[in-house]
Parts: sequence; structure tokens; C-alpha cells
Amino acid sequence: MGPVFDTVLRPAIVAASRSERIENASQRWPVTERVVRRFVPGESLDAAMTAVGDELDDGLAVTVDFLSEDTLDESQAEATVVAYLELLESMSSFRPASFGSLEVSLKLTALGLGLPEHGAKIAAENARRIVEAADSLGILVTVDAENHTTVDQRLTIVRSLRDDFPDTGTVLQACLRRTEDDCAEFASSGARIRLCKGAYAEPAAVAFTERRQVDDNYLRCLRTLMKGPGYPMVATHDPTMIDAATILAGEFGRTPDSWEHQMLYGIRVDEQRRLATTGARVRVYLPYGEQWYGYLVRRLAERPANLVFFLRALRG
Ligand SMILES: Cc1cc2nc3c(=O)[nH]c(=O)nc-3n(C[C@H](O)[C@H](O)[C@H](O)COP(=O)(O)OP(=O)(O)OC[C@H]3O[C@@H](n4cnc5c(N)ncnc54)[C@H](O)[C@@H]3O)c2cc1C
Repeated sequence: MGPVFDTVLRPAIVAASRSERIENASQRWPVTERVVRRFVPGESLDAAMTAVGDELDDGLAVTVDFLSEDTLDESQAEATVVAYLELLESMSSFRPASFGSLEVSLKLTALGLGLPEHGAKIAAENARRIVEAADSLGILVTVDAENHTTVDQRLTIVRSLRDDFPDTGTVLQACLRRTEDDCAEFASSGARIRLCKGAYAEPAAVAFTERRQVDDNYLRCLRTLMKGPGYPMVATHDPTMIDAATILAGEFGRTPDSWEHQMLYGIRVDEQRRLATTGARVRVYLPYGEQWYGYLVRRLAERPANLVFFLRALRG
């Protein structure tokens, strides 16, 4: 399924993630519940907190994402801020063994970045409210990466947040041609940087289109992050990248508390536990909320096996 999946199915699936009609229909399918649960622990805050407790009990760290994206009205952005403040309050009731075990991930488009007027300013202010609250509770924040058109605005906002809250992390995507330079900048400033391959369908003008090119760039970027004074967060399920991270960490004399692995909830769960037993730090990205559709479609687009799982569930 490899090349056909990459060139034909993947772009079509990602395009479906933007279709409101398909979203509305799929949320009514009886199969939905079963498929969604594989990747999203639940729609409610309670369900998310149960999952957080389970991960912490197993010695893993978490980053919790309240699912909402592409907010096009200010009141919806405000509702997302309120949801994050509630989430932070709930998370603070956990007393994890080590500092840094608790983190939230947020998307700037959910905080208003795409609003027609003053979107960047509104998103920056909203993000700052969440980062301030998180900081006061000892919870970390990472600003997720979205499609390439939002990278400049996001990095500008993150630089400004880091002036006051240097632990604020963000994400760099190996599929983008610019990322090697961004890695060099953020690594040298000591930032917490999550390196991932990238989940969005991007044009060839700005992105590598071959898997091999993305993987090569991932390895180059990983080396830059591991070599620098920052805190690399190695977000991948790919065994080659995971092994490379361990080797590079050794080469640059990194201690286990100076970087971490990250994986998505429900994906390679045994590997998450195995890495943690080796003494490595492992963080699970845990999404929750009613707006799971875009997130789910990106997971299906990433891997033929995820799609097969989905089709099998459809068959019942
Ligand atoms: C913690 C975390 C946060 C992320 N945040 C962002 C973000 O902010 N922005 C963004 O654009 N993207 C984000 N992503 C998604 C990321 O960009 C990739 O789309 C996604 O991780 C798939 O790429 P991969 O590196 O895991 O490997 P792939 O290239 O998808 O797969 C490579 C190999 O990994 C193994 N593998 C992958 N998936 C599975 C599976 N389900 N089961 C078993 N083996 C598997 C297989 O051996 C496979 O051949 C994030 C990913 C993680 C883990």
C-alpha cells in the first residue's frame, strides 16, 4: 500500500479532515465510538483525568490536548481558554513524582489565530493566560504545530512567551524545509522543542514530499537538538528515529532527564512502557474533547494500518 497510500490516499484523507459534511456524518456512525476510543480516551474532562492517572501510575508523563481547532469566532476561542483553565485546575490535583510530568498542549488556531481581525494578537493573549495559569500550578505548556502557513506567527508568539516563561515549548516539523534552521535557532536558545515528522499535507514548495527525505531531515534536526543546550522532545513512533535518539543522546553525553520520548495515546503502548523501564523519560500525548474528528483523521492518514483498523471496525 506504500506509494499508493502516500500519493493517493493520504492527501484524500487529510482533505476529508477539512470536510464539515463528512465530519457531521461520521459522528453519527455507530462505529465511531469504537474507533475513536482507540486514539482519544474520551470526550469529557473526567475521562481525560482517568487516563492521566493511569499513565502517571505507569511511570509515564503526559501532555493533555483539549481538542479544538480552527476557531473562527472570538467567543469560541474564549471557551477554549476556559476549558484549558479547568483542565489545568484538574491536573493540579495530581501530585506526580517528578517535576515536568504534567504538561498541556495547545493549538493557536483554537485560541483565535485564524480570526479575520487581530487573530495573532488575540491568540497570543489567550495563550499567555493559559501559560501564566500553568506556570503558577507547575504545569508545562507546549504550543502544537499546525499547517505551514501558521509557523511564522506561532514562533513569534512562542519567542515572546519564552521571554517570561522560558519553559514554554513548541513543535518543529521535519517535513518542512525551513525546520533545520528553526531547530538551530531554538536549540541554541535552550528551548524545549518537540520534533515530529508533521501531520499536515503540505505543498512541495515548502515541504519534503518523499518519506525518505522527511526521515533524513528528522535525523539532521534531531542531531542539532541533541547537540544544543535545549530540551529535545522526540515525538515519533518510528523505531529508527527512537534508536537514533538514544544513540545521539549518548554521543552528546545527555542524562536521561535532559530529553524525552513522546508518543500518542493508543499508539505503540507496549513500546511506551518498555522505554520507560529503561530509565528514559516518556510522555504520552493525550487528546480529549468532543472535537476529535480532525485529530482522528490525521491518525488515519499517517499509517495504512490505522486505516485498516478503521475499515475493519466499519465492517463490524
Ligand atoms: C507526542 C506527539 C505530538 C505530536 N504533535 C504534532 C504537532 O504538534 N504537529 C504535527 O504536525 N504533528 C504532530 N505529531 C504527529 C507527527 O507529526 C506524525 O504525523 C506522527 O507521529 C506519525 O509519524 P511517526 O514519526 O510516528 O512515524 P511514521 O513515519 O508515521 O511511521 C514510521 C514507523 O513508525 C512505526 N509506527 C508508526 N505508527 C505506528 C502505529 N500506529 N503502530 C505501530 N507502529 C507504528 C512503524 O514502524 C512505521 O513504519 C505528533 C506526534 C507525537 C507522537
